[in-house]
Amino acid sequence: MYNPPGYQQHLARPYRKALLNALLVITFFSGLLFAWINFGRGNNVVAIAELVMATYSLALLLIIRDTRRLEFWAMAYLFPFFTIMMVAMASPRSTANVFIWIFLIPIVSHLLVGRVKGLGMSLLYIGIATAIFFHRFGHDPQMMQPPVLANISVLTLCLIAFSHVYEITREQSEQRLTQQAHSDPLTQLPNRAHLQTRFDLERSRHQRQGNPLSLVLLDLDFFKRINDTHGHAAGDKALQYFANLMRTTVRQTDLVARMGGEEFCLLLPDTDKEQARMVADKIRRKLSQEALDLEGAPVTLTVSGGIAQLGADGDTLDILTRSADEKLYEAKSTGRNRIAA
Ligand code: GH3
Ligand code: MG
Ligand code: MG
Repeated sequence: MYNPPGYQQHLARPYRKALLNALLVITFFSGLLFAWINFGRGNNVVAIAELVMATYSLALLLIIRDTRRLEFWAMAYLFPFFTIMMVAMASPRSTANVFIWIFLIPIVSHLLVGRVKGLGMSLLYIGIATAIFFHRFGHDPQMMQPPVLANISVLTLCLIAFSHVYEITREQSEQRLTQQAHSDPLTQLPNRAHLQTRFDLERSRHQRQGNPLSLVLLDLDFFKRINDTHGHAAGDKALQYFANLMRTTVRQTDLVARMGGEEFCLLLPDTDKEQARMVADKIRRKLSQEALDLEGAPVTLTVSGGIAQLGADGDTLDILTRSADEKLYEAKSTGRNRIAA
């Protein structure tokens, strides 16, 4: 399967940003509320920590509006937030029900920083909270009753497990969606959108290192006849066959994409026009030499191609495609089953 680089991060971003935004607003107002309550009870250390956290949340709200380092700021929120939680739990003035906040740790950390870091943060802070709990209440027979301990630990474990499994499932569906959006369902080849992403990547590599980059457009000859003679399903099978032939002929670093219909594109890094012609011609020859079986009838397909090279023929994917298309037209009009460069 094809996995376009750099997409995962982008998909999770908007929802994590919205979530962090909501949490910061809640933290700001609840920070003020709890500071007021704790000042009233004379629990000044915790109250000041809460006031600082409220101010900090307000600052973070402004920072994350247009940050590119969302995960960094999510961490910068979680660490002090959880640390203040620990301070509140450790404070001898706070009541035992402050430990309810433990349940929030796995949920918030998984949602904000994902499966791996989320689990790490959960284990770290739940570990600290557990140590504080036993330190404070280890000698209190009322709190050390098995039902109390079992309730807290089972619920905490459930929340860790749920958050973790949820995040795994979310990542998997995100990956599936990304793949679907970037590949063609019939041939499983990357589509035009994927080609554009990869082209941008290869072009910046070309600009840094000067390696040649070529693009080949391939269009099956008289394909309409295949559909007309053998039916659309046979046509589909022929397209899959050709896709497979191309995939197994090019290098691992080359990209084969379906542009639509019976038109395909090869993006060949580190390949100049002459080398690209050799690759395209190898595909053309292979196709014309092997008959494929379409519902019992042996059919020989042919393909025509046009080539363009980055720099010599243009600097954008659009211009290069147009240039290769002109060459393709030339190959078609001079007899088909040939490659024009
Ligand atoms: P040329 O040699 O000039 O390229 O002739 P051609 O018949 O290949 O070109 P044309 O563009 O006239 O026809 C392309 C055909 O490809 C028409 C369409 O029915 C067929 N086609 C496009 N997409 C698919 C597909 O997904 N499945 C099938 N079975 N056929 C398709
Ligand atoms: Mg055609
Ligand atoms: Mg065509």
